[in-house]
Amino acid sequence: MGTKVLVTGAGGFIGHHLISYLKRSGYWVRGVDVKYPEYAPSVADEFVLLDLRRIENCLQATENIEEVYALAADMGGMGFISEHHAQILRDNSLINIHSLEAARQNGAKRYLYCSSACVYPEYRQTEIDVTPLREEDAYPAQPQDAYGWEKLITERLCRHYREDYGLETRIVRFHNIFGPLGTWQGGREKAPAALCRKVAVAKLTGSHEIEIWGDGEQTRSFCYIDDCVAGMHKLMRSDYREPLNLGQDRLVTINQLADMIASIAGVRVMKRHVPGPQGVRGRNSDNTRLREVLGWEPQISLEEGLARTYRWIEHQVAATRAPSEHTSGT
Ligand code: NAD
Repeated sequence: MGTKVLVTGAGGFIGHHLISYLKRSGYWVRGVDVKYPEYAPSVADEFVLLDLRRIENCLQATENIEEVYALAADMGGMGFISEHHAQILRDNSLINIHSLEAARQNGAKRYLYCSSACVYPEYRQTEIDVTPLREEDAYPAQPQDAYGWEKLITERLCRHYREDYGLETRIVRFHNIFGPLGTWQGGREKAPAALCRKVAVAKLTGSHEIEIWGDGEQTRSFCYIDDCVAGMHKLMRSDYREPLNLGQDRLVTINQLADMIASIAGVRVMKRHVPGPQGVRGRNSDNTRLREVLGWEPQISLEEGLARTYRWIEHQVAATRAPSEHTSGT
C-alpha cells in the first residue's frame, strides 16, 4: 500500500482534482469534507464526512495518516470573501488550528497548508500594472480581507509547529486556480467560472450582454488546476519550508479574460460594467522562487485552460436550462 495521505476539503474543487492526481501517483488517500464532490465521484480510498472545526473530528480524520494536504476552508470568490469576514475568520481558524494539532497528536510526518495570494498587503496591489509579488512581500502585513489575515496566521502556526514540534510543514500560496469541476454558480464562484457561465448563458439565449463587476480593468494571473495539483505534490516532496507562490505570472485584465472566453465560445459579447466587489486593483505572482525551488513552473497556457473550463461549464449551463430555453437564439 502507498503512503497514507489525508486530503481535507476533498469535496471541493482543488481537493477533488488533487485526490485523482495522488491516486494516479500510487498513494492511499482518505478524503474528508462536510460534503461529497458535486460534479463527479471521488476516487479516494476512503471518503469521510466530518466537520473539521471540531478537534475530535480532526483526530478521526488524521488517524494513521502520514501526510496531510490541508485544503478545507470556508471560501469563495470576491463576492463571498468581501461579505463574510467573521464567518470566514472563525471557521477557517478553527479548521486549521484543530487540523494541525490533530496531525501532530497522531504523529503525521508532513503537512502541506494551502494559503493564498490574498495574504499580500493591499498597499502593494493598488495599480493595474502591478509589480509581481515575491514571497517576502507579505510583510509588513495588511491583507485586504479577514480571509487573508487567517491565512497569514495559519502560515505562522505551521512554521511554529515545525520549529517547536518537528512536524514538517509546507506552505503554498495559490494565485487564482481555475478549471472544470469547480463551483460555477450560486455566489461562491470565482471570476473565470463566473465569466464562463455568463458567456455560455449569452450564447445559449442569444442575449449577448454580460455583466462585469467594476470597470473590468483590474488585473490578475490565472493558473490551471492540473498545474496546481502537480505543483502541490512537488512542494510536499521538496525540502523547502517557507511559503511559496504557485500560479502563473501572465497578467490579464478581467475585460481581456471575458474577451478570451467569448472568443473560445465563438460569440461576440457586449460587456456591461456594473458596481460590484473587485478586490485589489492588480495582482501578479513572481515565480522566481518557484522556479528555483521546484525547478518547474506551471505549463498550461491560459487559452488552453480556459478552453477546457469553458467546454465543461457550457455543458453544465445547457444541462440545467429548461428544454424550451435551449432553442431561443441558437
Ligand atoms: P472549495 O470551496 O471548492 O473547497 C473547500 C472545501 O472545504 C469545500 O468542499 C468545503 O465544503 C470544505 N469545508 C468547508 N468547511 C469545512 C469544514 N468545517 N469541515 C470540513 N470541510 C470543510 O475551494 P478550493 O478552490 O478547492 O480551495 C481549496 C483551498 O485552496 C482552500 O484552502 C482555499 O482557501 C485555497 N485557495 C484556493 C484558491 C483558488 O483559486 N481556488 C486560491 C487561493 C487559495
